[in-house]
Amino acid sequence: MANLVPKKYDFSTVKGISKKQLEEHYKLYNGYVTKVNEIWGTTDDAKSFGESNPTYSKMRSLKLGETYAVDGVKLHQMYFENMTGGSNTPKGDILNLIKRDFNTYENFLEYFKSVGLAMRGWAILAIDPLDNKLHVFGSDAHDVGAVWNSFPLLIMDVYEHAYFLDFGTDRKKYIDTFIKNINWQVVNNRLQKYNMIKSVMTSLRNLDSQPIYPTWSLSDNE
Ligand code: FE
Repeated sequence: MANLVPKKYDFSTVKGISKKQLEEHYKLYNGYVTKVNEIWGTTDDAKSFGESNPTYSKMRSLKLGETYAVDGVKLHQMYFENMTGGSNTPKGDILNLIKRDFNTYENFLEYFKSVGLAMRGWAILAIDPLDNKLHVFGSDAHDVGAVWNSFPLLIMDVYEHAYFLDFGTDRKKYIDTFIKNINWQVVNNRLQKYNMIKSVMTSLRNLDSQPIYPTWSLSDNE
């Protein structure tokens, strides 16, 4: 039985987005948490699902709801975290990587905004272990367009519910306001976490490529 508790965020630090807009958005996040608890509390008795079918079946409904709710929780947590708390000046390792992979910070911003205007759900700056570079992924819904094993660094919600109360249809203005609120310290902390995982994985791989035990010790045990 899952017992996730919604995280708290200090929305008083957010400038240019109203308390009402943020509170209404937070309510939606709360709803996803409730649904994850409900879904992860359901039975795992395989027989109780009857015959599964990719058009309609009990299992199909559950699995579609599960990815939508779980991704909804994770994305909103990262979004609220990276837009609260101040530290609004881009700096540190993330700024260096942005300049390396997007040429200039200004170009990155234009690219990020453009993805935010092109998608219906999310714009996500991530670092991907395939090439170890930054990528901005776009997503039309919480569980559409997710990239496995990619490491999210900066999340922007572009669903209408994120801005419509304050900005109406002016998504550009919302995105500009969001960008002014980015907490770059949070983004740098995530990058640091990725680098730590990467270094552990690299040392494990190095170990793996060599025999862990010298052959004589294996013979001794036989
Ligand atoms: Fe949202």
